[in-house]
Amino acid sequence: SPRLTIEDLRAEIEGKEILKGLSLDIKGGEVHAIMGPNGTGKSTLASTLMGHPKYEVMGGSVTFNDEDLLEMAVDERARAGLFLAMQYPSEITGVTNADFLRSAINARREEGNEISLIRFIRQMEAKMKDLEMNPEFAHRYLNEGFSGGEKKRNEILQMMLLEPSLVILDEIDSGLDIDALRIVANGVNSLRSEDRAFLIITHYQRLLNYITPDFVHVMMQGRIVKSGGPELAQRLENEGYDWIKEELGIVD
Ligand code: ADP
Ligand code: MG
Ligand code: MG
Repeated sequence: SPRLTIEDLRAEIEGKEILKGLSLDIKGGEVHAIMGPNGTGKSTLASTLMGHPKYEVMGGSVTFNDEDLLEMAVDERARAGLFLAMQYPSEITGVTNADFLRSAINARREEGNEISLIRFIRQMEAKMKDLEMNPEFAHRYLNEGFSGGEKKRNEILQMMLLEPSLVILDEIDSGLDIDALRIVANGVNSLRSEDRAFLIITHYQRLLNYITPDFVHVMMQGRIVKSGGPELAQRLENEGYDWIKEELGIVD
């Protein structure tokens, strides 16, 4: 069962410290939600865990299944089972969605054990149907000309095909109407299991009506400042973040 342990993580971008001592422990079977105001470092956390080269780790530690995650190259992290559904998925001209997905699956497999084309197509078509995606999206260039909602659905398609052991969703709910939100949430819920953990980053409580988290964390100014259960998300929805700032004496 997977386990991610982050201790006192500090990271900066272009010389500016964003993560200022963040700690978090996530185990298989658990769904953790991180909520927090804009600009607080949520996407920075996601990108740092994935090993994005723009972010420089200045201190602290991250282990994944007892291995030093920070020592691993980006592709090693993916092979180890990490997956990030990005807040702003990029467009890649010249690579079709189907080609991209098949390469991504095979990159995580041993040589000689690649998925067959037939089996891949069958799986992709089944998952696309679950996500109510137009079959033509398989043959379009990756994310090119996709609407915001279509990109988000496509991220979830990747997740469903890759079956990662640690899923990070960065504002997967932004730009989704209520029907798309339900479809995306169903996709996530169908993958919940003891062998998998979820870190759901969201600005709004709405998503958590569809994906019930085990733990809710509030992130402010580069740290987790408060943790609780789903009731914490509800309180943030009702009252905003000011009461936490007052409680903790945070001035911004
Ligand atoms: P969140 O996801 O919580 O909204 P981000 O992690 O995107 O926050 O951003 C955290 C901080 O890092 C913000 O102050 C943002 O302006 C800054 N930041 C993000 N990307 C860059 C960049 N490429 N260069 C400089 N600052 C950045
Ligand atoms: Mg933001
Ligand atoms: Mg963000």
